[in-house]
Amino acid sequence: MSSEVRTSCPYCGVGCGVIVTTAADGAVSVRGDPEHPANFGRLCSKGAALAQTLDHDGRLLEPQIDGRPVSWEQALDRVADRFGAIIDAHGPEAVAFYVSGQLLTEDYYLANKLMKGFIGSANIDTNSRLCMSSAVAGHKRAFGTDSVPCDYTDLECAQLIVITGSNLAWCHPVVFQRIAHARKQNPDLKVVVVDPRRTSTCDIADLHLAIRAGSDATLFNGLLAHLVRAGKTDSVFVQNSTEGLQATLETARRDADDLAGVAERCGLPLEQVSAFYQLFANTDRTVTLFSQGVNQFSTGTDNVNSIINCHLLTGRIGRPGAGPFSITGQPNAMGGREVGGLANQLAAHMELDNPEHRALVQTFWSSPRIARQPGLKAVDLFEAVHSGKVKALWIMATNPAVSLPDTNRVREALAACECLVVSDCMQHTDTTRYAQVLLPAQTWGERDGTVTNSERCISRQRPFTAAPGQARPDWWIISEVARRLGHAAAFEYPNSAAIFREHAALSASGNRGQRAFDLSALMQIDDDAYDRLTPVQWPVRITPSSRLFGDGRFYTPSRRARFIPIATQGPARQVDALWPLVLNTGRLRDHWHTMTRTGKSARLSAHNIEPCVEIHPQDAQQYSVRDGELVQVKSQRGAILVRARVSDHQPPGCVFIPIHWNHRFSSLASVDQLVSAVTDPVSGQPEFKYTPVSVQPWPARWYGFILSRRRLALEGIDYWACARGDSHWRYEIAGNEVPEDWSASIQAMLCTLDAAVEWTAYEDRAARRFRAAQIRHGQLENCCFIGPDIRLPERAWLAGLFGADVINDQDRRALLSGQSASGVEEAGPIICACFSVGRNAIARAIRDQACRSTAAIGECLMAGTNCGSCVPELQSLIAEYS
Ligand code: SF4
Repeated sequence: MSSEVRTSCPYCGVGCGVIVTTAADGAVSVRGDPEHPANFGRLCSKGAALAQTLDHDGRLLEPQIDGRPVSWEQALDRVADRFGAIIDAHGPEAVAFYVSGQLLTEDYYLANKLMKGFIGSANIDTNSRLCMSSAVAGHKRAFGTDSVPCDYTDLECAQLIVITGSNLAWCHPVVFQRIAHARKQNPDLKVVVVDPRRTSTCDIADLHLAIRAGSDATLFNGLLAHLVRAGKTDSVFVQNSTEGLQATLETARRDADDLAGVAERCGLPLEQVSAFYQLFANTDRTVTLFSQGVNQFSTGTDNVNSIINCHLLTGRIGRPGAGPFSITGQPNAMGGREVGGLANQLAAHMELDNPEHRALVQTFWSSPRIARQPGLKAVDLFEAVHSGKVKALWIMATNPAVSLPDTNRVREALAACECLVVSDCMQHTDTTRYAQVLLPAQTWGERDGTVTNSERCISRQRPFTAAPGQARPDWWIISEVARRLGHAAAFEYPNSAAIFREHAALSASGNRGQRAFDLSALMQIDDDAYDRLTPVQWPVRITPSSRLFGDGRFYTPSRRARFIPIATQGPARQVDALWPLVLNTGRLRDHWHTMTRTGKSARLSAHNIEPCVEIHPQDAQQYSVRDGELVQVKSQRGAILVRARVSDHQPPGCVFIPIHWNHRFSSLASVDQLVSAVTDPVSGQPEFKYTPVSVQPWPARWYGFILSRRRLALEGIDYWACARGDSHWRYEIAGNEVPEDWSASIQAMLCTLDAAVEWTAYEDRAARRFRAAQIRHGQLENCCFIGPDIRLPERAWLAGLFGADVINDQDRRALLSGQSASGVEEAGPIICACFSVGRNAIARAIRDQACRSTAAIGECLMAGTNCGSCVPELQSLIAEYS
């Protein structure tokens, strides 16, 4: 008998519903939930490959102290003893939690309750600080509440969608698919993309503004001034529902009244700015969708408010097809905001600096104390750990050794921390290696609770498989520590439903319409109804309310939305002769965060095998960088080694490096070690989108690759990056020292020499070429190819041999040539992850079989016919090869 469970995807803030089917033989498959309002059955490549990521390889299976397995009792006692002793000796500000948008709302709620209401400090911050805290701060400044005014249906009834600071096609692919579909249904729907890079999102753009990095607020200040000039002020709305226009307008006019000046400062042609302004001015139903490219600046909050100002002026908010729409990065970034997971919030959208709110929460929790002032935001928190001010830190479900800015300093802080506790589902991450206490947590598919997506829609995450080893829910772990700290009565929960009821009741407590976040209709939900809960958008009041802000009432003291004057400033640090290029960081299509989950999938790993720096051809020429070779990228904070990808999709003067790689997957490509710990003064969000750097070729004397049936520990190699393949691991390697004896060096790395292994090798020392293969019991165990430059055999045919039960004689003979004797052409780098269709195969279909549409390619190769994530790339290839 097979079984089906409705749950939601654990990756991005789109929050797609998925249906997981477990067959009688235990095989798990995943498909989109046709009834979920976020995706109506669609999934992207990451969601579609979820079933490939369920193995227990690398899982943390038991509690550990100092690397030794211990019982839960011992581990929890240790955490409570150390935290308790440090609080007693140094006060509550000497301890901190660093949590995550990966936690479920119930976990998040308890972590916040323990820290703010029982330990009595607000030193709990979250990795959501890194992706959307500027949007939170912008919302609160303008609306008096951190509430996103839009939902996904607004995108489908808009006439204009401005996508700014988001490669939606890769980072929120299902929302992108919904827009692409809406555009097909409604040819009048216009899309403008504002982004320095030409990303896949631009494939549906009527206008792409390749704006100068960091000039967003100038563009929107100029738009505000233009809208007034063009007579587009919604006077009734402004009069009845807003305040502060005059001062804001004066500032905008001083800053950006002159169209030519705006164009010059934004690095755009005047006609493009003019076309954008006219389109915005003349289109009533406009949604401005923004994400990290707006938020991740030292001026991120101002950027957000410069966008909101334009919507307030035109009254384009609180009605269908109109509004500023911040789209969140993580699956439960929004849930974290609801429970007060940020150090400057209380809980249920209440304020730490509001005595009434503090009293209300303290009474509700019956807590002995309550934090009275904001705690340390992420960057400051780790600085306080570094200085020893914070002596005990508990990190839950996140990997700050990779994801925070200036990670070398973060690693120093972690290494020096007197008491470091990490709860995680994975044993080996860049962060867990520093922990004294490791607590095994449950992960997706095992845990039970809720998440909230970008459109304020609460969905259930339901378990469909048993947790391995001793992994436990995060809420249980937190409750057990709280109990040991003397707070048993306040942390007595039989299940996650009970925590959800309390969270909903707190949102209703003393609310009386004062706070937008209100789950009063759910505060008495029983366990069965919680189990069956279908996706629901907040507020969920007992008396259903109209659309958020639809009545023109906001949550400021005056109930009016506030215009915020924006005096534009550039990024904190500018390029100069020493650091001449701007580094921008971001996500790739098929990976998620630090790859602990997506790195398990061969299908997802095939799209981008290695960490790369994308660089414009002009810059490549100027700095002697060649496509495919290794380059060193340096900043004032550190240096990394990555592969060069020369592309005119990148603007001159800027480079782009993905965020995903870390020490588990590469020798030296953790990009956040380059980023300075510069933050927005209002939100505390780091400036990930603008780091002055230099690039220079790295003098490799040899390049190579190893394909291995096992994961290897490559010690002493200057450069390596690894990726999962089907039945093998792929390592790209390079060095600038040539070993005395290639055979000995490679065999030492592979560590598989035993009587059952056949070893064949070929070496041309003068030409710096070496090739070797190991076969065990007729199967390929390892192969290695080294050469003086990047011209090495394609990997696909060799990789395919790992799937063979026994290598046939013909393939054995061809092995060291690196290519099939039958002359089968290589598929090339994978474009369609769902059906493993490579670039070369697609190019051949376009050229030789006249496939001139994505539908034709789909018919010929299946590419693009499942999740659709590769469709923008197929369109680019059609343009390139037609
Ligand atoms: Fe998951 Fe993709 Fe949906 Fe994001 S868009 S929630 S990654 S399926």
